[in-house]
Amino acid sequence: MNEDDFRKWSRTAADWGADYRETLGERPVRSRSAPGEVTAQIAKTPPEAPEQMEAIFADFERCIMPGMTHWQHPRFFAYFPANAAQVSVIAEYLVTAMGAQCMLWQTSPAATELETVVLDWLRQALSLPEGFSGVIQDSASSATLAAVLTMRERALDWEGNKKGLAGHPAVRVYTSNEVHSSVDRAIWISGIGEENLVRIPVSGAQRAMDTTALEAAIRRDKNAGLNPAGIIACVGGTSVGSTDDVAAVCAVARKYGLYVHVDAAWAGSAMICPEYRHFWQGVEDADSIVFNPHKWLGASFDCSAHFLQDPDSLVKTLAIQPEYLKTHGKDHVINYSEWSIPLGRRFRALKLWFLIRAHGLEGLRTMIRNHVLWSEHLAQKIAETPDFELVTAPMLSLFSFRYVPTGTRDLDELNQRLVNAINDDGRIYLTQTRVDGQLAIRFQAGQFETTEQDVLSAYDVIRDCAATL
Ligand SMILES: *Cc1c(COP(=O)(O)O)cnc(C)c1O
Repeated sequence: MNEDDFRKWSRTAADWGADYRETLGERPVRSRSAPGEVTAQIAKTPPEAPEQMEAIFADFERCIMPGMTHWQHPRFFAYFPANAAQVSVIAEYLVTAMGAQCMLWQTSPAATELETVVLDWLRQALSLPEGFSGVIQDSASSATLAAVLTMRERALDWEGNKKGLAGHPAVRVYTSNEVHSSVDRAIWISGIGEENLVRIPVSGAQRAMDTTALEAAIRRDKNAGLNPAGIIACVGGTSVGSTDDVAAVCAVARKYGLYVHVDAAWAGSAMICPEYRHFWQGVEDADSIVFNPHKWLGASFDCSAHFLQDPDSLVKTLAIQPEYLKTHGKDHVINYSEWSIPLGRRFRALKLWFLIRAHGLEGLRTMIRNHVLWSEHLAQKIAETPDFELVTAPMLSLFSFRYVPTGTRDLDELNQRLVNAINDDGRIYLTQTRVDGQLAIRFQAGQFETTEQDVLSAYDVIRDCAATL
């Protein structure tokens, strides 16, 4: 490809992207592709001779697009959002064109310095105290793993990396049974082991960890000679938005010298609005906090903001400097690869900078407030509809409900059929979860361009589909 072709096809791609976004609402949200259908469209062997871009691009539309689920669709109400505000997509075009690998300060000083500045913008936007330093991780899962490794090293007097875990009393980590599966994986990968992840039961409408039970578990472990290392609190759990009392968790942690990591992967974006900050009251006492601007704030995937009270303990856990990575004479710069698990780093700060400047914090707050308000209205409407009930009340823009016509023997089966019918219909996309063993249908509004009309239209689709069962 020569420079002229590059220019031509870059323009084609940009036009394609704009057309796609403009007409997105007309497509079914979830892909209708059957397993193997995409595979069957693609050549089994790689071409020996070069092919024309025209043919490659045409095949992209023909073979690939039918197999895509549209996460930027305004009626995507499944899982949590993975937003890509247009302005952040533009920043990603630029980043992709440069293709810089930003592992060290010197491998692109602007990437490092902008990351420091925009993470401090985010810190201010969330109203976290000045003591917190931020870093962009590829995902909340990586941030949680980094936090768990830090807890482990701190509890082992920084000897775990060198000597392994054998020969030490078991390292113990505490969490509720509502946390994301990334916590389980962090515990597996860190070598702490699933049996040393102590699950504290939840109680109350917020499904918060019972901190009396938490303290009792820590005491019991200490008395048994085990090594309590840290607590993972959750604000806005993935299933139905379970939210721990962060202040109470931090108070227990302080008493026993434990490290606290707060997983607010989805809900953290809402904390740019002062009126929602009660959901993580006490967060300034946490050691580590993660939230994903790629979920609700509008930064395109991937972009996970990780804030640390004491980044030195993270660096002490993860930094390694073989000769080929030494940056002689550049001792007072940040090398963010020492703050994360992969060495290589994409330039992720640019899209945040573009996003926050183009929309302003006030624009982003309005978007989030609207989603919460519209979701609350929809929840109320569903609650008032005969044969429907709310299973969990709205936590920000997330709630869950069930279809409960009288005389139904298997409500779980019926509700699964309803989810399937809704998603086959294609106008909206919802997913299910389990709450206290029962199947419930989740709804969340969070797509950047969703409108009140889009949210309300979910009501008609849900009722239409229920009527067909
Ligand atoms: C989405 C989510 C995660 C995982 O986020 P990734 O960035 O995909 O790793 C973790 N915790 C919670 C509460 C989430 O909602």
